[in-house]
Amino acid sequence: MGRKFIDCSEYPSDNNCSVKISGTEDEVLDVAAAHAAATHGHEDTPEFREQLRGMLKDE
Ligand SMILES: [Zn+2]
Repeated sequence: MGRKFIDCSEYPSDNNCSVKISGTEDEVLDVAAAHAAATHGHEDTPEFREQLRGMLKDE
């Protein structure tokens, strides 16, 4: 199974975040949702996770 990643530095943020998260799709979604909530003040909702899912790229 291929890994996916999200690179925070590709998206505008207040703190010039450079975090990159990679793993299986479910792993990335879990970690990215927690990271976005803790660091970027997002709410971890099913809708937000759907948005994140659309931002995943193949590693
Ligand atoms: Zn970030």
